[in-house]
Amino acid sequence: MRRLAAVLLVFTLILPSTMFAADDTPLSGYSTRSSQAEREWETKFRGIPEPANLREYMKHLSARPHHVGSPYDKENAEWILARFKEWGLDAHIETFDVLFPTPKVRVLEMTEPTKFTAKLEEPALAVDPTSSQKSEQLPTYNAYSIDGDVTAPLVFVNYGLPEDYEKLDRLGISVKGKIVIAKYLHSWRGVKPKVAAEHGAIGCLIYSEPQDDGYTRDNVFPQGPMRSPDGVQRGSVMDFASSNPGDPLTPGYVASPEHPRLSRSEAKSITKIPVLPISYGDAQPLLAALKGPMAPDEWRGSLPIPYHVGPGPATVHLKLEFNWDLKPVNDVIAKIPGSVAPDEWIVRGNHHDAWVNGAEDPLSGTAPLLEEARALGLLLKQGWKPGRTIIYAAWDGEEPMLLGSTEWAEAHADELRQHAAVYINSDGNDRGLLSMGGSHTLEHFINGVARDIEDPETKLTVWQRLQLSDIAQAKSADERKEFRERPDLRINALGSGTDFTAFLDHLGIATLDLGYGGEDEQGIYHSIYDDFYWYTHFSDYDFVYGRALSQTVGTAVMRLADADVLPFDFMDFADTLQKYTKDLKRLLADKQEEISERNKELDEGVFKATLDPRRPTVAPPREEVPPHLNFAPMENAVESLTRSAEHYQKAWSQKQATLTGDQAESLHTLNQSLIESERKLTNDDGLPRRPWYKHLIYAPGVYSGYDVKTVPTVREGIEQKRYAEADQEIVRVAKALNDEAALIESAAQMLEKQ
Ligand SMILES: [Zn+2]
Repeated sequence: MRRLAAVLLVFTLILPSTMFAADDTPLSGYSTRSSQAEREWETKFRGIPEPANLREYMKHLSARPHHVGSPYDKENAEWILARFKEWGLDAHIETFDVLFPTPKVRVLEMTEPTKFTAKLEEPALAVDPTSSQKSEQLPTYNAYSIDGDVTAPLVFVNYGLPEDYEKLDRLGISVKGKIVIAKYLHSWRGVKPKVAAEHGAIGCLIYSEPQDDGYTRDNVFPQGPMRSPDGVQRGSVMDFASSNPGDPLTPGYVASPEHPRLSRSEAKSITKIPVLPISYGDAQPLLAALKGPMAPDEWRGSLPIPYHVGPGPATVHLKLEFNWDLKPVNDVIAKIPGSVAPDEWIVRGNHHDAWVNGAEDPLSGTAPLLEEARALGLLLKQGWKPGRTIIYAAWDGEEPMLLGSTEWAEAHADELRQHAAVYINSDGNDRGLLSMGGSHTLEHFINGVARDIEDPETKLTVWQRLQLSDIAQAKSADERKEFRERPDLRINALGSGTDFTAFLDHLGIATLDLGYGGEDEQGIYHSIYDDFYWYTHFSDYDFVYGRALSQTVGTAVMRLADADVLPFDFMDFADTLQKYTKDLKRLLADKQEEISERNKELDEGVFKATLDPRRPTVAPPREEVPPHLNFAPMENAVESLTRSAEHYQKAWSQKQATLTGDQAESLHTLNQSLIESERKLTNDDGLPRRPWYKHLIYAPGVYSGYDVKTVPTVREGIEQKRYAEADQEIVRVAKALNDEAALIESAAQMLEKQ
């Protein structure tokens, strides 16, 4: 369900042709000899994926709606299983029964000042053949909204973020007892009903604003790629970030008949108020009937109406009832046993379920995964023997909230903690730049892979294209300098929103999330129009970026599986932690300054002096200036991390020159220890108030959802004004980093002793 923001590419390409010459320095984690052999196998691999196959897989899998529990979802799982087997892989389906609500009653009407009944319907289009499969399509709704029947005046709350409610406070407007209408985007959708409920609202509507993914950006579908007036974004509103993703009735353990299930009223991740997504066609009459103050400038969209905030006089009646059934999710799992270290696993996944036909989300990522599996099957027949075990997974139930991947990770938690070295994820894929997210211990590794993949449009490496695009978009001379001089491009820290979450955040497995995108606009996300017709007209229609994704991820999988020593690198990780520590100190200093300044302005009478009596506003409250926090434990820990990272790097580069093929036994101990390196960054007690999340460096934000909070307990402590907690958490993070430094140090010594 991940969604990339479109970025404009503006740069000219003047580069010598030698820049794509093959590199013969040995790969990280390999001896000179094993590196050569690996490069040969990888080159063979990258020649195999075919755009025509990707097109066929997508066409087949998107032929009918395939949401959780639907007949075609099951057929797709069986079809994928048959392909894995046909390609010579040992594969099976694992099924879990999970809570998956579907709509029974959906009513939205305006009762005052005029009558209006919302359509809540996406029409079939003659030009788009699968859009007419009405009997199999899920209606437009938000999964895990509670049932409800509410009538109340409406309030427009912009994107429905905490800061939007601060603005409403300044306008003197409360949402208590009201129904709010929020725009999609700028936070994960489930944050909107959560924050609304915290402020006392009794219902929530979310609409797709044309300024964000409609006619303001390009022509609407089917003339263009953007959202039409009746297009609706379905989606989950499960409050996964403050509790856990996966089945709401079995939090933290696998959904199976042997385990007790919570009752629905005990499930923390179901919303507190009813919530429904609507089109801008349905939203416009409601918004047009609002009065009260004008919405702040930056809240206004591009509908041809004055954007007022309310409350009322528009009054709406929202009635929702759902079938709260258990539905099966079918994960398709294929295994290639390792020949040297079968107990070390590289896991690779992408989901196969969709909200409707789901060509872009997820099949543009599922198809490349299948093509990787076919290619690896061919290499096996040619004599390639991966050193480590490789597991390919096509997850079901990602859209409702990572159901298939989370239940599988919980079912196999002990084995995964013991054996899984790396998890690699992808989701929807489009044209453009490579997006690299993941654990920073893999930053150096994935930069190396990106240097070996050709960009289909420019014929540069995807790494070069990314670097040049970064330079073009840099905001300062310092940034440009870093992009030119730092050997590795920084990768994004991971929040959530797709299937890596249980692996990284719950189990502490080093993770990568990869995909291409940024060149095409899209406004079909989670609608019936995300289908084969749309994808083959408006996205990567020649499937060359699908092939690039296969080549990128497949290369990463092979390189991880075959390395003599797992190619974790701790220099980039230590550098990143130095940066995070500085960021946190700046965050606190900025808060202190902001609050001192506001208090001073209150003393000076700035708010009274600037008040327009015809448009009265309320002065912000006086707040206590945040105290100083003691960052010293973290700063000291990052220093010892840096020292041990340098030591490890030195030890490895000395070792690499003398490495031979007969050290498998001693390398095994080293690799076991390296597998532990991500685990050391977790804490069994988990994060405060959300113990399912165990990673102390990366977590989705409680109030941002998909967006990451790095060093989450300290960062959110400062943001949420829990200063004493932030101070304690610095100590806990420092301990984890010290443990990590000790592990790296002992790994360096192991290398030196061999
Ligand atoms: Zn997806």
